[in-house]
Amino acid sequence: MCHEFLNDPRFYSFLLQIDQDIAEEVRQNCCIYCGSTLHSADYPRKPRGPRGVMTDNDKIRLSFCCALDGCRRRNTPPSIRFLGPKVYLGFIIILVTALEHGLSNKRRQYLIEQLDISPQTFYRWKKWWIETFSYSRCWQLIRGNFIPPLEVLQFPGAILGRLTGQDLMQRLCQFLQLLLPITSTSWSGSVKVVVNPQKM
Ligand SMILES: [Zn+2]
Repeated sequence: MCHEFLNDPRFYSFLLQIDQDIAEEVRQNCCIYCGSTLHSADYPRKPRGPRGVMTDNDKIRLSFCCALDGCRRRNTPPSIRFLGPKVYLGFIIILVTALEHGLSNKRRQYLIEQLDISPQTFYRWKKWWIETFSYSRCWQLIRGNFIPPLEVLQFPGAILGRLTGQDLMQRLCQFLQLLLPITSTSWSGSVKVVVNPQKM
């Protein structure tokens, strides 16, 4: 199985393009709280991911602020790249914690070392899948698609293993799309953007 996408700049541009498409959809739909126009209000992030392939664009979370005095609320679109406030990019968190269906042990170990992921961080992520994600509205919305039901203790590998993409990169993209509802706390709508890794 090929994991070269991790070091392929096209993979990062592809994810960025999806985030831009999602952001454009959110902008066109106007403020979710009052219906007014949205103004761009991106903010910097310092995501951790493979070195050497991330660009300055990968360090910006696309976001908007409502233009109406009295509302001015932030509307941060869901993101295929940033898993909420977590420091590491979403796909890293999936790949490292999806024990049986993600990377090979050797490749996972390489990633853990390259990204300096501590055992505590790894443990926290495993705990997050089981104790937070499994109770989230996001999971409640999609769990019905998985028949027979999945074993929560096997998250996220069990989810990744059930997806139908042709290779790991495609299944990863499908997974990231499923996670979109959990990636923003200041915007709760749904988006129509379809993630199609074959376009990469
Ligand atoms: Zn507003």
